[in-house]
Amino acid sequence: MKVGILGAGPAGLYASILIKRDFPTAEIKIFDQSPANATWGFGVVFSEAALAFLRKDDPETADLIEPHMETWSDIRLTHKGETVAIDGIGFSAIGRLQLLLLLQQRAAQFGVQPVYDTLIEDLSVFDDCDLVVAADGLNSAIRASARQGFGEAMYHLHNRFCWYGTDKPFEALTQTFEETDFGCFNAHHYRFAPDRSTFLVECDEAAFKKAGFADMAEPEYRKICEEIFADTLGGAKLICNNSIWRQFPVLTNRHWYHGNRVLVGDALHTAHYSIGSGTRLAMEDVVALVRALKDCDGDVAAALPLYQSQRKPIVDKLCTAATTSANWYEDFAQHMELDPWRFAKSYIRRSNRLSGDQIRGMSPEFAMGLEAHGIDIEEAA
Ligand SMILES: Cc1cc2nc3c(=O)[nH]c(=O)nc-3n(C[C@H](O)[C@H](O)[C@H](O)COP(=O)(O)OP(=O)(O)OC[C@H]3O[C@@H](n4cnc5c(N)ncnc54)[C@H](O)[C@@H]3O)c2cc1C
Repeated sequence: MKVGILGAGPAGLYASILIKRDFPTAEIKIFDQSPANATWGFGVVFSEAALAFLRKDDPETADLIEPHMETWSDIRLTHKGETVAIDGIGFSAIGRLQLLLLLQQRAAQFGVQPVYDTLIEDLSVFDDCDLVVAADGLNSAIRASARQGFGEAMYHLHNRFCWYGTDKPFEALTQTFEETDFGCFNAHHYRFAPDRSTFLVECDEAAFKKAGFADMAEPEYRKICEEIFADTLGGAKLICNNSIWRQFPVLTNRHWYHGNRVLVGDALHTAHYSIGSGTRLAMEDVVALVRALKDCDGDVAAALPLYQSQRKPIVDKLCTAATTSANWYEDFAQHMELDPWRFAKSYIRRSNRLSGDQIRGMSPEFAMGLEAHGIDIEEAA
């Protein structure tokens, strides 16, 4: 089997690993426009205390990655100067570059040599392939080659966000909400290495416009963000890496394959960063794709519909939860009128998925805190 993979991000690298593991005679060519040791962004967070989702299918890769992860067991919300901890929500994080380097190492063990620094504009490079894996992220050239065939649909959320790092290691995944003269701001910050944290700043459209960020150069708006979150940063500076203001794109595709071209990861779907699942979803897509190939003895035409039918219901559920969560953030300025504990309850119930009993079971200390503040846990947020 000849396999072409576009993109050596988490999805592309992991596809090369699993395909070579399960089809050792497969010939793989994989390209990425970036150098091997460069990436945008900082850390990525996984919505589990560990890589349980990988462990069952691929313990070797889980063993390689896990020692490099930062983990914690609660989320903290800081609002009106008070921090409320929601216990029992396990998260782990790793630097994006670190994750890619580890996946590169594992791919090399299978003899995969990605071709870096190579932007693919002409897809005929894959003409001799039996299978073409579109792991080329949100702006996928492969998806763009047949938007209607894939049934692409995309819209953007209203809030603006900008992804920074900082050398202050935050203790836990914390979200800090601040009211300013411009309007309301929120920072999602968490440690992804012993000496480094992600610091993602978010604001609504009104605050973005009032602050005039659209007309500013990056150092200017970085300084304003540092001032807004001065107490949280405690003197630390924000670190820039392609830190531009963006609106989160919500992407879906009705058809996950077109001919022998198949979408995985961000080329296929996005899941709002507030549920920390983009990288995990990308890697799980690849697990499902390679499992379908295996179940069909490498018959690509049979495997692609199987991949879609088995994986899509799971992805749809998660993406719906991500969108519901994103919608809560779209109105976060309004939620900030609540006192810190009511605000925290509104946050935890934002996906309408958790009953009072479930919250008590998952986060007993938080539930006791709500009751101590006279808040009815059963009442809808
Ligand atoms: C602000 C923000 C925060 C996020 N936070 C988290 C988080 O906390 N946790 C989490 O799990 N996920 C997070 N994500 C999402 C996560 O980064 C993505 O879901 C994940 O990277 C998807 O992996 P991928 O391999 O599908 O795509 P990508 O990581 O986008 O990789 C695509 C690769 O394809 C290459 N490529 C594209 N086109 C071409 C071309 N024509 N030629 C050659 N190479 C090409 C690119 O260089 C890139 O390396 C976040 C995303 C954003 C924007």
